[in-house]
Amino acid sequence: MNKIEHIGIAVKNLEESNALFAKLFGKPHYKMESVESEGVNTSFFKIGENKIELLEATNDNSPIAKFLSKKGEGVHHIAFDVTDIEAEIKRLQGEGFIVLNEKPKKGADNKLVAFLHPKSTNGTLIELCQEIKDIS
Ligand code: ZN
Repeated sequence: MNKIEHIGIAVKNLEESNALFAKLFGKPHYKMESVESEGVNTSFFKIGENKIELLEATNDNSPIAKFLSKKGEGVHHIAFDVTDIEAEIKRLQGEGFIVLNEKPKKGADNKLVAFLHPKSTNGTLIELCQEIKDIS
């Protein structure tokens, strides 16, 4: 793993949280994106080298909706940048971690992503992400 790519925070209302976090950071989010397959709307803030992703659910079956009803708002996952996500998935499976996406999927922010089950990581949801290289 190369570095922390971003930290994901689950929120109930993205619009209200965008305003709150803009006040906190002293600048607005730089993009918003919906990931239909995950049932989430996201927004991203950049603080120096680091990024914060806010996530709101778009339907009741969204993983974010389930998280909010169980735990309430707060830190949802930590995402790590990897160079070769397929190799990293294999490596981590070999180490006994439970990988939720054996095949990486398209996430927000032009990334291939895969998640590790929190049950195998002391309770913290871990996201692996690899930048999708623009080959056009
Ligand atoms: Zn994320």
